[in-house]
Amino acid sequence: LKKLRRGLGKTRQGLVNQIKAVVGQGPLNQDGVTEIETLLLQADVGVTATDRVLEALQTKLRAETLPPDEAIDYLKQLLREMLEEPYQKDYAPAITPERGTLNIWLMTGVNGAGKTTTIGKITHVAKQSGYNCLIAAADTFRAAAVEQVKVWGARSGVDVIANPGQNTDPAAVVYDAIAAAHSRESDLLLVDTAGRLQNKKNLMTELEKVRRIIDKKAPQAKVESLLVLDATLGQNGLRQAQVFSEAAQLTGVVLTKLDGTAKGGVALAVVQQLGLPIRFIGAGEGITDLRPFSSYEFVEALLS
Ligand code: GDP
Repeated sequence: LKKLRRGLGKTRQGLVNQIKAVVGQGPLNQDGVTEIETLLLQADVGVTATDRVLEALQTKLRAETLPPDEAIDYLKQLLREMLEEPYQKDYAPAITPERGTLNIWLMTGVNGAGKTTTIGKITHVAKQSGYNCLIAAADTFRAAAVEQVKVWGARSGVDVIANPGQNTDPAAVVYDAIAAAHSRESDLLLVDTAGRLQNKKNLMTELEKVRRIIDKKAPQAKVESLLVLDATLGQNGLRQAQVFSEAAQLTGVVLTKLDGTAKGGVALAVVQQLGLPIRFIGAGEGITDLRPFSSYEFVEALLS
């Protein structure tokens, strides 16, 4: 949490001090709201989410005056509510999945986003919590990717299913991995996929094929499709997210590299523009640097 706070400190200094400078001079007024708009956009919160904040602030100001502290509290509450919108009512922040069934988590995202690292972090936590895990190295496009995922598998003590040879079919690897997961009675199968965004059609075809194999071989499994997104990309990351959301039937987002970025506000843009919940956040390169997303923690780290 400290790392997240420190990391988001860059956003925070940019954001909270400036917001305080705006609201600290007395009750919030329309000029103040316009300044807050600029600040939110600079923090990569995005147009859609910013517009919603402004609308709510303006409505509130019509009914009452907002002294500085109340204005900050109200802003925090607004941001929290917006971040919580895509979650199911019973959502409780946790890294590990449901017990008593096979969970398959398809990890997507462009190369360098932090997919492999995130898989390593998740399996580490899951294994420590007593889950029987397996990794499918289905990024068969890059030989290095298979090696890298094996390194993380070894680190967390989790087996990796891979096909020897380059350019093997990712769907075939997933097929083998599901068979292995069934025979070992695994709780969680993490699938590393290729992240070639340059060719959207290939990406879609590949992911669709993998989905078909999962539906056929493991119809009972609880499937999640998680996009791993590099927070330091800010609004550019949002465009990537849009492409993946068209290709991968995403169910959530993992926001990485929140340590040391001034672009933490992108979380709000992702949630508001794509309607996807942020599931986990990465705040470092180490195996323990993953946290389940909590809107409360996030907003406190962003605005306190
Ligand atoms: P992949 O290509 O998507 O599998 O990305 P990798 O998992 O190989 O990560 C790319 C780089 O980002 C590596 O140098 C990781 O150490 C680094 N990385 C991943 N997650 C984080 C994070 O949360 N914080 C920081 N600072 N670096 C990260």
